[in-house]
This record gives sequence, C-alpha cells and structure tokens, in this order.
Amino acid sequence: MRNIVTGNWKSNKLWDEADKLMSELVTGIQSSGNTEVMVAPPTPFLAALQSKYNDQISLASQQCSANGEGAFTGEHTASMLKSIGVTSVLIGHSERRESFGETDEAVASKMERTLEAGLRAILCCGENLDERDAGNHFERVLGQLSHALKNVDAAGMEQVVIAYEPIWAIGTGRTASAAQAQEMHATIRQHLSTLYNETVASSTRILYGGSCKPSNALEIFTQPDVNGGLIGGASLNSSDFLAIVAASNEAISKAV
Ligand code: PEP
Repeated sequence: MRNIVTGNWKSNKLWDEADKLMSELVTGIQSSGNTEVMVAPPTPFLAALQSKYNDQISLASQQCSANGEGAFTGEHTASMLKSIGVTSVLIGHSERRESFGETDEAVASKMERTLEAGLRAILCCGENLDERDAGNHFERVLGQLSHALKNVDAAGMEQVVIAYEPIWAIGTGRTASAAQAQEMHATIRQHLSTLYNETVASSTRILYGGSCKPSNALEIFTQPDVNGGLIGGASLNSSDFLAIVAASNEAISKAV
C-alpha cells in the first residue's frame, strides 16, 4: 500500500507564490517512490495549477459543498472539482468544523457528494485538548467517523482516506507522540473492521496530521498504522515538504 503525503496550504499564498511553490515541488519530486504526493492549494488556484502542471502532482480541494448544483452562492460542488481534474477533497477539517460551523451532518453530506462525483475523500477527524485530557478522545474520534461514514458502504471506502488530526497539535508546534498517533490509528482501524470488515480496515490509508515536520515525520510514519501525513505549515515551504515526502519513502522502505 502506497503512503499519501498531502500538503494543505489553507488560506496562504498569492498566485505567484503558489505557482513558485508548485514548480519547486514538481522539480523536487522526480520520483516520489512509494508515496503519492498531493497538495490542496486555495480554491482560486486549482484550475490554473491543474492546467499548468497537468497531473504532475495531484490536487485536492480544501472542501466542497454539501449540495449539488443550484442556487448556493459561493459554493463549489464536488462535480465541478472533478471536471477540472481535481482528484480529492479534504472533508471535515477541524478548522472548517470550528470556524465555519461544519456539523457532523454536513460532513456526512459532503462525503456523499464527493464519492458520488468519483473523487477521493480525505476525511479529517480529531479531538480537542479538553477531550484528550478528559480521556474522551477515542469516543470523540470514533463518533466523528461513524457519523461521517454512515452513508458510505464497503465499496465506497475504496475512495476514502482518513486523516487523524488532534486539534491540539494543529499549527501549535505540539505534535502527538508517535505512540499517541499509533494508538489512535490502530483504534480507528479496529473501528473500521467493526463498521465494515477486515479488508476495509487493512486497506484504508490513515494519515497523521498535526505539526508534522521534517524532524518528526520519520518517527511518526514508521508506526505500523500510519500511512503518511496531512501537512499544514510545513507544506508551505518546498524543502520542508520534500523532506517529509522523503521521510515517508524511507518509512515505507524500512517496513518492507
Ligand atoms: C492541518 O491543518 O491539516 C495541519 C496538519 O496543520 P499543521 O501541520 O500546521 O499542524
């Protein structure tokens, strides 16, 4: 199974900067080894990056509408993303949940729209610090997953990647320890075997996200249930992001 390393640029960079970063990544990733490299730039840049770099690095959208086509000013549908060559959509990122009121219900609808459009969903989940300190982190994360996946069957899971992102580690510089990441990833995998079956559990990629950087990526990626990363801050700089991709390749080669 190939790892996935995805850069989430969030609301950062103007066009010239985005173009430069993409060009550096395309040049730097001559052979991505056993890692699929993907970036999620700001929405206004998706179409231009797709036509300029033409699938050299696959593109994800940072979100999509919970609805289909229609009178929904400001929204973009999963089908629109598919029509310009985007391959994947981040769904349920904690910043969308916390700052834009994205509910579990909306996340479940976005999952449906994304899979219907034939795109891959990168489903984000994660607990906040209070939930972790109270020991409710497993319940919180598994609850988010059960909700988001309620209308996804085992066949649909082929289009789903899960990203575990503890909120207390996002953009804080405070990373989950490799042991904490592994413990949660193994619990998520176990949950998938309960919701679906062993095949789905073992074949679903589970990425770690939260202050992942060149200095800690290898240790996290070598955990048996970690299949790559969702990278925020460190994806804004090509050398850091390329070093994280290299760490993913090294982790895979150690596992073989
Ligand atoms: C993210 O927002 O998905 C993320 C992981 O951010 P950072 O790497 O900056 O913590």
